[in-house]
Amino acid sequence: MTNIKKNLDAVKDKIKKACIRAKQKVRDANDITLVAVSKKQSIERIQEMLECGQRTYGENRVQEAQSHWSDLRAQYPQLKLHLIGPLQTNKVKDAVALFDVIETLDRPKLAKALAVEMKKQDKSLDCFIQVNTGAEPQKAGVLPQELSDFLSLCQGLEINVVGLMCIPPVNEPSALHFAFLTKLADKHDLKDLSMGMSGDFEKAIPLGATYVRVGTALFGERLAQE
Ligand SMILES: *Cc1c(COP(=O)(O)O)cnc(C)c1O
Repeated sequence: MTNIKKNLDAVKDKIKKACIRAKQKVRDANDITLVAVSKKQSIERIQEMLECGQRTYGENRVQEAQSHWSDLRAQYPQLKLHLIGPLQTNKVKDAVALFDVIETLDRPKLAKALAVEMKKQDKSLDCFIQVNTGAEPQKAGVLPQELSDFLSLCQGLEINVVGLMCIPPVNEPSALHFAFLTKLADKHDLKDLSMGMSGDFEKAIPLGATYVRVGTALFGERLAQE
């Protein structure tokens, strides 16, 4: 068995165990979608992951995602590509053409550009609003107190907002942020929550995650640091 296959099995097993640990909410491993984060991974590793049956992938840069996936898309009709990094408005056209899900909807200008482009391409991508739960100045995402207004704006633009996404501050316990994000989603009747990465997806699941974004625990170390 290769490392990739071993890693994938191990992560799936941890997802199952985390579901069992979820006491308050009934959780089923089938309700959790594993987003394999393939940024800065080699095509060989990505191919191997595809051969293991994994079909949902996350990328944080539009250009890199194109180089990874433009050709592979045709071979794997069930592929689902999630954009999990910041999106500049000048890349919206390419992003709408390539991705199935945008997890990083984070400002009015982007919402407007996405709405226009999705109409043009006659595509409706599922979107997550990224929330800056730690109110960190350098981090993308809407502030929690701005969420209601931003959600109304997106809904007015007929964007299909399915849920919320967050990246907790590195120096704080992520569980606090996951619990907070779940509260915000409940308050706004949003069903999906993208939260948890290699280091903390097992914590995110009992707290309500429906999508976990896992990179290094599946693929191993990335080829180069950002
Ligand atoms: C890179 C990245 C991940 C995956 O991180 P790992 O620690 O490798 O699992 C998840 N979410 C976002 C937004 C990322 O940029």
